[in-house]
Amino acid sequence: MFDKILIANRGEIALRVLRACKELGISTVAVHSTADADAMHVRLADESVCIGPPPSKDSYLNIPSLLAACEITGADAVHPGYGFLSENARFAEILAEHNLHFIGPKAEHIRLMGDKIEAKKTAKKLGIPVVPGSDGAVGPEDDAMAIGKAIGFPVLVKAAAGGGGRGMKVAHTADELLMALSTASNEAKSAFGDASVYLEKYLTKPRHIEIQVLGDGRGGAIHLGERDCSLQRRHQKVWEEGPSPVLSAAARAKIGATCAKAMQDMKYLGVGTIEFLYEDGEFYFIEMNTRIQVEHPVTESITDIDLVLEQIRIAAGGDLPVTQDEVAIIGHAIECRINAENPETFRPSPGKITQFHAPGGLGVRIDSAVYQGYVIPPYYDSLVGKLIVHGKTRGECLMRLRRALDEMVVEGIETTLPLFRALVREPGIIDGDYHIHWLEQYLAGQAAKTKT
Ligand code: ADP
Repeated sequence: MFDKILIANRGEIALRVLRACKELGISTVAVHSTADADAMHVRLADESVCIGPPPSKDSYLNIPSLLAACEITGADAVHPGYGFLSENARFAEILAEHNLHFIGPKAEHIRLMGDKIEAKKTAKKLGIPVVPGSDGAVGPEDDAMAIGKAIGFPVLVKAAAGGGGRGMKVAHTADELLMALSTASNEAKSAFGDASVYLEKYLTKPRHIEIQVLGDGRGGAIHLGERDCSLQRRHQKVWEEGPSPVLSAAARAKIGATCAKAMQDMKYLGVGTIEFLYEDGEFYFIEMNTRIQVEHPVTESITDIDLVLEQIRIAAGGDLPVTQDEVAIIGHAIECRINAENPETFRPSPGKITQFHAPGGLGVRIDSAVYQGYVIPPYYDSLVGKLIVHGKTRGECLMRLRRALDEMVVEGIETTLPLFRALVREPGIIDGDYHIHWLEQYLAGQAAKTKT
């Protein structure tokens, strides 16, 4: 096992990793920018190192500073959390070159899945169903029109290096395709430094369903069921739940077994998520995330498996915690991502939290790094905290969620709490009858109502 882990992240995920380290008896090193000197993860870690000024590129993304922090503190492993350097294959290699462990998958797998075109080809080879689309990147020499017609409109132009929903454009007709190709390609070039784009059939009313996997790097791998993350705004997840309200146990077992088998064949190491769109009973692979995800507590709640703790154990050479047969899905869990944003315009609202009360009680979990008096800095994401509620059934879970949302207090800044309080009372949500465009349609409807 590792002796000392450096946590190369901030906010709630830094605190989450710190908790797992404490339970395992591993010493912790927090790193922080000058803007985060008073952060909770800094206060609770055994040691801390300031790694630079507020902008991420000068601090949390600054590899030389992180290496120096490892050197000074004698850390033997680095946990990257999510975002920042978590899916940077080069970072994993550089750590290895310095005899430091990267708590994550093998660099080759991070690189492979980071390129969406290669990831899709690999998924296909491994027997995972994919969205129909172009065979790789579409360049100027290709007849995009003919490819588009063969796939059938509407088609989606996607960036090979994409992430966070950027570099995506829908073309409803052949006429729109050329424009969509150049806009998506320009956006991809400026956001990711790589202009390559590919085409995919645009599914009109799919759900987003993802499978959590766990591999030991030696050919052992299991799946831990799914999370339904269909409630999104601008391709960003807002509400995640598990199990999906629309998936049968047989359908779960089938897609889960396909994913687990693929991970066994790859000899995948650590935690990962295989993301699908799901429409008319069919799964279509869109991408794989080779890291712990924001919504991992949903799976932890319904499987009673501590994903971050297991991720650390496995990175240190440990075995899988359970066999596939021992994985049981218990009850239902929902996570709400509460952001420091105006609940109608979604304008960021950084600033000082003057009052804070976290709800409690049976089945209620808060993953947050804020406290009363904490100032949310303007430099990073606007997550205030995640509220995760568990119940024996989806009905019980919704009942508890309603109560917990009403109980929670965050004052001094604007938050998206009022949005969740409304959502948890919406018939479409209560019935579990929603798809990836549901939330944006709902928000547009609410905006129209307030205008009249
Ligand atoms: P990113 O890496 O930018 O997050 P993804 O490929 O994971 O990109 O897609 C993000 C979201 O975009 C999905 O959850 C879904 O809402 C939408 N999306 C992606 N591919 C398609 C598609 N072929 N048809 C319809 N919507 C899609």
